[in-house]
Amino acid sequence: MFGGFDDFDGFDSVSEECGVFGIYTKENSDVTRYAYTALYALQHRGQESCGIAVNDRGIINYKRGMGLVNEVFNKDSLDKLNHGKIAIGHVRYTTTGLNSHHNTLPIVVKHIKGPMALAYNGNLINSQELRESYENKGAIFHSTNGAEVIAYAVTEQRLVCGSIEESLEKAMYKIKGAYSLVIMSPKKLIIARDPNGIRPLCLGILPDEAGYVAVSESCALNAVGAKFLRDVLPGEIIVISDKGISSIKTHCGNKGSLCVFEYIYFARPDSVIEGVSVHEARIRAGEFLAKEHPVVADVVIGVPDSGIDAALGYSKRSGIPYDIGLVKNRYVGRTFIQPAQETRESTVKIKLSAMGSVVRGKRVIVIDDSIVRGTTMKIIIKIIREAGAKEVHIRLSSPPFKNPCFFGTDIDNRDFLIANQKTPEEIRGEIGADSLGYLSIENVEKVAAGAKCGFCSGCFSGRYPMEVPSEIPKDKFDLKLS
Ligand code: AMP
Repeated sequence: MFGGFDDFDGFDSVSEECGVFGIYTKENSDVTRYAYTALYALQHRGQESCGIAVNDRGIINYKRGMGLVNEVFNKDSLDKLNHGKIAIGHVRYTTTGLNSHHNTLPIVVKHIKGPMALAYNGNLINSQELRESYENKGAIFHSTNGAEVIAYAVTEQRLVCGSIEESLEKAMYKIKGAYSLVIMSPKKLIIARDPNGIRPLCLGILPDEAGYVAVSESCALNAVGAKFLRDVLPGEIIVISDKGISSIKTHCGNKGSLCVFEYIYFARPDSVIEGVSVHEARIRAGEFLAKEHPVVADVVIGVPDSGIDAALGYSKRSGIPYDIGLVKNRYVGRTFIQPAQETRESTVKIKLSAMGSVVRGKRVIVIDDSIVRGTTMKIIIKIIREAGAKEVHIRLSSPPFKNPCFFGTDIDNRDFLIANQKTPEEIRGEIGADSLGYLSIENVEKVAAGAKCGFCSGCFSGRYPMEVPSEIPKDKFDLKLS
């Protein structure tokens, strides 16, 4: 049995830059509140929609909706979801285009072998192909979401496999791409990472060993009071039930290709991924930048949030003082969230303002994580100049962003990428900077030195950990596999 409610009224395309959560407690507990708290801590990974599914003695209840965690959930809806032993949750990033209500997760399916809830972070590169093959066999899809394709791949195997984890293990031979998965069956929490470990996923334990928690980033473990145990291995499936915890490693063996942009931009600085603190990785990026692109200046400032740590690193290495030069309105989300260009421009101005007393009459070094389309930086430079800066030198803690991402970020089209169309000098002119310096491709993976895994830096190098389609395909639903 299962029951749920959605705040639905639209339909469109798919993109899975997201955060996931899963919990298994030995006794019935307020798993809904744990999910809510953890999703709050993962909000930076997705602001478009969110959802929680709770398993109360085999009955899966869920609520999903468009908006931030505190917009979708209130005391009433949390109370309705009630207690249980297992829960999963999801926050989802925006897509370009229309609303995407039908793509909210977790997906909850009713199957002959029992109900299942599923959510993931990543992107399947063969989603469309698999979807078509299932449709040709009579399947009906309700979303354009890769999660539904994974759900089909798993349930297809359930007819021949003894358990849900075995079904997933078999399904993993079919699904290709990036996925950090949380699955809930009536009795089990199952978590898994794709064989390349492209998106992060880690495991923690609650005090008094009351249960296990799986989250995209360790910052969400801290939020629920869980202790970090370890990162899920690339390719690993972990099963948690009343029999305890076990691991299936058939798909393991690959050192992994974690998205290096997790360190540069996506993750929260207080998270530790594969043994490396995101904050320290950003500091290192700033130090590399100072070495690679020195400039005589009076002050170093960072673009909040992800440019701040790198600005500290630049200042540390160069000896040029760091100061708070840009103030962020904390009531506005990430500007990238606004799909239409015009809205994005006005949002940057709502979001950021320059600190006149810090930049006036100064030669200012501005550190940001990346330039994608170039819109944001152009406006930031304008704001800083309007506040009286004498010179504005831009330094970026990533190399030129030249290639699309096939593994779960919202960068789908080469033509939008300014670094793909113009030289650094042309970009400098276009954004109106006095100088422009990117982190070198040689140093980008070194920012996460000491990590227990390898990296994917395909968006910079064009080299991906697996064969990728020549362009990101779009289907009749404006399917965007980003
Ligand atoms: P723009 O150059 O105007 O397209 O936007 C650049 C800004 O978008 C960066 O400074 C980041 O803060 C943010 N950003 C970069 N990459 C991504 C991504 N894959 N998804 C969402 N936001 C991003």
